[in-house]
Amino acid sequence: MHSAVAENLARVHSEIAAAARRSGRNEDEVELLAVAKGWQPEKVLEAVDAGQTLFGENRVQEASQKIPLLPGRLTWDLIGHLQTNKIRRALPLFRQIHSIDSLELARQIDRIAAEEGVFPEVYLQVNIAGEIGKFGFDPEELRRDFEEILALERLQLAGLMNIPPLAANPEDSRVHYAGLREFRDALAQESGVPLSGLSMGMSEDYAIAIEEGSTIVRVGSAIFGARRKTEAG
Ligand SMILES: *Cc1c(COP(=O)(O)O)cnc(C)c1O
Repeated sequence: MHSAVAENLARVHSEIAAAARRSGRNEDEVELLAVAKGWQPEKVLEAVDAGQTLFGENRVQEASQKIPLLPGRLTWDLIGHLQTNKIRRALPLFRQIHSIDSLELARQIDRIAAEEGVFPEVYLQVNIAGEIGKFGFDPEELRRDFEEILALERLQLAGLMNIPPLAANPEDSRVHYAGLREFRDALAQESGVPLSGLSMGMSEDYAIAIEEGSTIVRVGSAIFGARRKTEAG
């Protein structure tokens, strides 16, 4: 069966491949996380039918209702802010958590992961643009806290993640993606920890993010269509 979602996925894959080639990398070095927030299971199944198995959600509540309704072989990542009272529920649902945005959250996930006997893979979210009131570590704060984060025995650090400021032009995001990569390079050098994953790029700008080194792009509306404003943020 051919759906609009299948066509969109094919287009996104070919743009990922083209952007990877432009940056001298292989298409298979960039994962596509299909962001299903705001969409019903039936819509997600259109992407499954087209071969997509990796999906993202931004809320634990929505994910815990949706995931059991979909095939068990699918893989899910959490990309939205995680409240400490939802950690225990989140841990068994997700492959990776992209949105560790404070030292306190890192500590709490580590503590609960120890109780649950798991080793969650996480990205540290960095507010690289320094936007007031946005989630994420300030880069200098993360430098300061990094040793303590490394000492948290349960956390497996996949890398860094950012969400650039809303932009009229996708090219405006490039500086923030390059900035995250450069910050990662510096932190990796200082600490000796590779931090090889860069979770960056959304529907408007994933090609630019890949050119700047993204290893996983989080793409929702370019696959599923525009979300209604009330459905998800
Ligand atoms: C919703 C969301 C996305 C996907 O946004 P699109 O513009 O629909 O691709 C990516 N990352 C995060 C953190 C999100 O909340």
